[in-house]
Amino acid sequence: QEKDYQMMLRTKNPGGLVPPQLYLALDQLADEYGNHTLRATTRQGFQIHGILKKNLKSTITTIVGNLGSTLGACGDINRNVMAPAVPFKNRPEYLYAWEYAQNLADLLSPQTGAYYEIWLDGEKAISAEEHPDVKAAREKNGNGTIIHDSVEPIYGTHYMPRKFKICVTVPGDNSVDLYSQDLTLVVMTNKKGELQGFNVFAGGGLGRNHNKEETFARLADPICYVVKDDVYDIVKAIVATQRDYGDRTDRRHARLKYLINDWGIDKFRAKVEEYFGKSVEPFKELPKFKYQDFLGWNEQGDGKLFIGISIDNGRVKDEGKFQLKTALRSIVEQFNLPIRLTPNQNLIFYDILPEDKEAIQEILDKCGIIVDPTQIAALTRYAMACPALPTCGLAITESERAIPRILERIRALLDKLGLQKDHFVVRMTGCPNGCARPYMAELGFVGSAPESYQLWLGGSPDQTRLAQPIIEKLHDNDIESFLEPIFVLFKKSRKGKESFGDFCDRTGFDAIREFSANYTPG
Ligand code: SF4
Repeated sequence: QEKDYQMMLRTKNPGGLVPPQLYLALDQLADEYGNHTLRATTRQGFQIHGILKKNLKSTITTIVGNLGSTLGACGDINRNVMAPAVPFKNRPEYLYAWEYAQNLADLLSPQTGAYYEIWLDGEKAISAEEHPDVKAAREKNGNGTIIHDSVEPIYGTHYMPRKFKICVTVPGDNSVDLYSQDLTLVVMTNKKGELQGFNVFAGGGLGRNHNKEETFARLADPICYVVKDDVYDIVKAIVATQRDYGDRTDRRHARLKYLINDWGIDKFRAKVEEYFGKSVEPFKELPKFKYQDFLGWNEQGDGKLFIGISIDNGRVKDEGKFQLKTALRSIVEQFNLPIRLTPNQNLIFYDILPEDKEAIQEILDKCGIIVDPTQIAALTRYAMACPALPTCGLAITESERAIPRILERIRALLDKLGLQKDHFVVRMTGCPNGCARPYMAELGFVGSAPESYQLWLGGSPDQTRLAQPIIEKLHDNDIESFLEPIFVLFKKSRKGKESFGDFCDRTGFDAIREFSANYTPG
């Protein structure tokens, strides 16, 4: 008799879009075949944990039959394409970000029929087919070097050396953690809001290994600007460069960030231009990038409303009086609203008629869901954790289950030291793979041994700077004693309203360590 193998299944939702029909299907699948919860991921998809192998086929069939897909949510291939979730209908740049996230997902979808043969008895669902414009762009063979004469016009016979992550955003909006992606496109419009082209960043990536210095987290670099008609060709050129020159001999050195790091930007750009068939234009100036989560009730700019709902660590569940899963299902059932998952594991319902606001709020109240963002503990609001134990096979220690208590302890410590009004971005993962992007946090915990974490400090509140490790193994029991002197120094020496991450970055770890070594608890 076969063992009860169980799986985690992840959906692909470009720009975080979950149509109402798909949401209801996922909600039901979590109950029927999963562990009765859904988990919003940091790449704007959903994960269902605990699916037995024998139920995998009917789960995937149900997802695809309800306008979803799992194709490319994992593997050495382009992963889910991210975009800001916020539905500002009067800001065309946001709508372009959605459109191009979807188009790039289509462009870089594998063309093989194997997925459909294995999981869907050969049926190709409409939702998974290519947009005709994208198909035309894909087939346009720029200079004869990109398109292979094979079943996979972009991936060729060997696919990518490693996973490949793309996001599309708009100037100033860093809700997508743009510096952590292999490839980032920034929508550039003119004053009338007409699409002109895209700024291109490349070479970001966070996954690393402990005690292996040749692996590291890296921020994406500005590469170039392209006019809108060239966007698919530049994406193909960058993907092809990584496909052909990315390291296939060592998986730890296979991401695009290592290629760019080894070559330098100029060589990388020159190689991309060869595939692109012409020179690229210089990167255009951008305003500062900020992080905003748009929680609570908001206007979307066309007379309708949207509501951002915070989901602690992305876990959609019912537990005692907290009935988030029931609330979301009831709202979708009654109001047929689309969902956008955010890159911070939250969720937005949009296209809400103003007259429905009260009834929706009532459902949320009844189910114990706090909507007003000012009522959510600020440390929790901006924190993220990966699932880790017990569902992730790579986990070294706890993350999702440990973070609520650790945030409470940090809050208590800050309060004790007279920092009641302060909060900052805390992120935690159970291993250095970094799924919850801890290396961009102001305070990052990265599992390094059972009940122990490597601690990262100095990221910025808007995730525009890489943090640095200050200690390799900090036992869970020692978190307060390690952080207390650092918080005391922060309180004493911060400049004006300087954030904790900015303070740590400016002060430097030598000064922090020296202060800590001489600190006597008060
Ligand atoms: Fe698993 Fe590591 Fe990713 Fe956490 S960061 S989900 S432990 S692979």
